[in-house]
Amino acid sequence: MKTRRYDLVVLGGGFAGVAAAVQGARDGLRVAILERTTLWGGLATSGLVTIYMPLDNGLGRQVSFGLAEELLYRTLRYGPGTIPAPWINPRFAEGIADLAADNASGRYMTRFAAHACVLAMDEILTEVGADLWVDTLACLPVRDGRRIEAVEVENKSGRTRLEAAFFIDATGDADIAFRAGVPCREHRRRPCLLALLADLDHVKAAAAAEDLTGLFGGGSFGDNEHDVGYDGDCPPLFGGNGREFSRFVLESRRYARGKIAARQRELGEKGRKRHYPALTATLPDIRMTRDIEGVETIEADMKNRRVDTSVGMIADNRQRDAVWEVPYGALVGRDVDNLYVVGRCASATGYAWQVSRLIQAVVVTGQAGAAAAALCIRKGTTAHGIDVRDVQARLEGLGFELHL
Ligand SMILES: Cc1cc2nc3c(=O)[nH]c(=O)nc-3n(C[C@H](O)[C@H](O)[C@H](O)COP(=O)(O)OP(=O)(O)OC[C@H]3O[C@@H](n4cnc5c(N)ncnc54)[C@H](O)[C@@H]3O)c2cc1C
Repeated sequence: MKTRRYDLVVLGGGFAGVAAAVQGARDGLRVAILERTTLWGGLATSGLVTIYMPLDNGLGRQVSFGLAEELLYRTLRYGPGTIPAPWINPRFAEGIADLAADNASGRYMTRFAAHACVLAMDEILTEVGADLWVDTLACLPVRDGRRIEAVEVENKSGRTRLEAAFFIDATGDADIAFRAGVPCREHRRRPCLLALLADLDHVKAAAAAEDLTGLFGGGSFGDNEHDVGYDGDCPPLFGGNGREFSRFVLESRRYARGKIAARQRELGEKGRKRHYPALTATLPDIRMTRDIEGVETIEADMKNRRVDTSVGMIADNRQRDAVWEVPYGALVGRDVDNLYVVGRCASATGYAWQVSRLIQAVVVTGQAGAAAAALCIRKGTTAHGIDVRDVQARLEGLGFELHL
């Protein structure tokens, strides 16, 4: 087996992984980022989510900074999407024309086009000089005592062993942390599929407005975030089990098929030509599979409360004045010294997880994890041994505000 050596290997190229790779490379580390598909962005792009949730608390105060803000603008470089004028930050908006337009909430958020976003992610990852591995599956962490020594990966070349000083699990499902023996919680979800629907009414409206933003009507089939919407007979399924994963995918598509056919019938003889799925999610829309049992956890009752170990703030989109400070230990699994777990599989419970899994929130944890890894490498210490105040000082240097 061939061996490659890096400072930091980021496993998974969703928004959390991209943020981690960008920060690690900007900190001067030799970074590899691995993605099992060929597209960056994870659920946000391949899952067709495409709503970048707010950076503000709903009362006029910005709470998420750094790459959470920078990547929001990047999503809009090659596709439509707008930001309410009062929030536009000229530092990131340069070169993006016609950006200002209000949204119903007035909040600092946007909608973006999935594949336009992928192009922009290619760009930023290339700019920072990360080593990009697509179509590459991280398979097996190899442990040596409390450290992960290497991760074996599989792609067209067969197996390669990637060694690194630090690893970041950004798989969304904590797959690598789990296989390395980090204790995790399991979650089950009922079928759900997002789709881009080609629909004649949307096309006419877009043509009339000379604006393709609304060209594809979003289609959401099955369970929503409140666990309602799916009325089939499939039980909640665990995405960390291969058979249940397949059942989730196939039942979600079967369910969508029924709804789409019904709509086509309603539209009459030309229904098939007036309304059809132009694209369905290519990563299954499973909101949660696993999160780690971290050294600390983002918990529902921590809303608007000070957390001394905060490494960033994240806001809810469903309510105003609802902010969580993310504790450093939510990114740290037990027993492994050189691993951070970021994104939607960082340690979070109850309603707090509904917030910590949002796109802007996973960027916050991704960036914080990589900045912390860079510090650990420089100081010759571990994720468990580092003084959190050093991590906080570094993040403040990157423009983060850590407390309300
Ligand atoms: C139906 C639905 C609707 C949602 N709506 C919204 C919304 O409107 N706004 C919002 O902000 N959030 C929303 N979310 C949540 C949000 O999209 C995700 O939680 C967030 O994008 C997760 O980012 P991530 O980087 O942590 O994980 P993911 O996006 O899951 O990225 C993980 C990446 O790692 C890759 N990967 C996994 N395992 C491996 C491996 N072994 N080797 C290599 N690569 C691997 C995957 O292919 C993927 O690209 C929604 C989620 C769902 C399912």
